[in-house]
Amino acid sequence: MGEAERWPRTVGGHVALDFVNTDVVSQGDRSTDVLRATGEFLAWCGHAGVVSVAPGPARLSRAQERTFLTRAAELRGAVRSTVEAVAGERDADPAALTALSTAGAEAVQRAVPALENGRLVWAWDPGTPDAALWELASAAVDLLRAGPTGRIKVCPGCGFVFLDSTKNGSRRWCSMDDCGKQEKMRRYVAKRAQDRTGQDRTGPRH
Ligand SMILES: [Zn+2]
Repeated sequence: MGEAERWPRTVGGHVALDFVNTDVVSQGDRSTDVLRATGEFLAWCGHAGVVSVAPGPARLSRAQERTFLTRAAELRGAVRSTVEAVAGERDADPAALTALSTAGAEAVQRAVPALENGRLVWAWDPGTPDAALWELASAAVDLLRAGPTGRIKVCPGCGFVFLDSTKNGSRRWCSMDDCGKQEKMRRYVAKRAQDRTGQDRTGPRH
């Protein structure tokens, strides 16, 4: 199985949104939850472009791994809840906002700061799997603070969240190869059915 099938499609246009989309695991056998094991999560991070990941397995005890995966799931849930509120122009869940801000603050606290091209950037020592979570928390906070939040959308077909980067903001589907294609097919079938009904009628047709 290739990586493309093993994990959810990275069509979010932003690493924090791709992380959110790893919670959509209902599409047949396309993917399973990357948060079922720390190693799986870190492998997904490498695949999705999270850089604060050390090669090789993370050395965690069972209890540490459980705690880590719970924190990761909490962060993912908080980001989903908040970006869905943004996309739906609804009030955010205060608990999700607090969880997100707390994770973001911890990320800043643990970051190694540097100046790059005249801008302050943060990096995280990948000596702990937490580094990947800090990077993701920081990316989510950056997106929600600096935007473009008006471009955050939820695919009506599958629930994936994504950044619409089309010029006129007309993107509706996670991808035209998936939900977009299915919608086209649905419309085609509906139109064929309608045309047939029209043919059965007597009288002039247009
Ligand atoms: Zn979709």
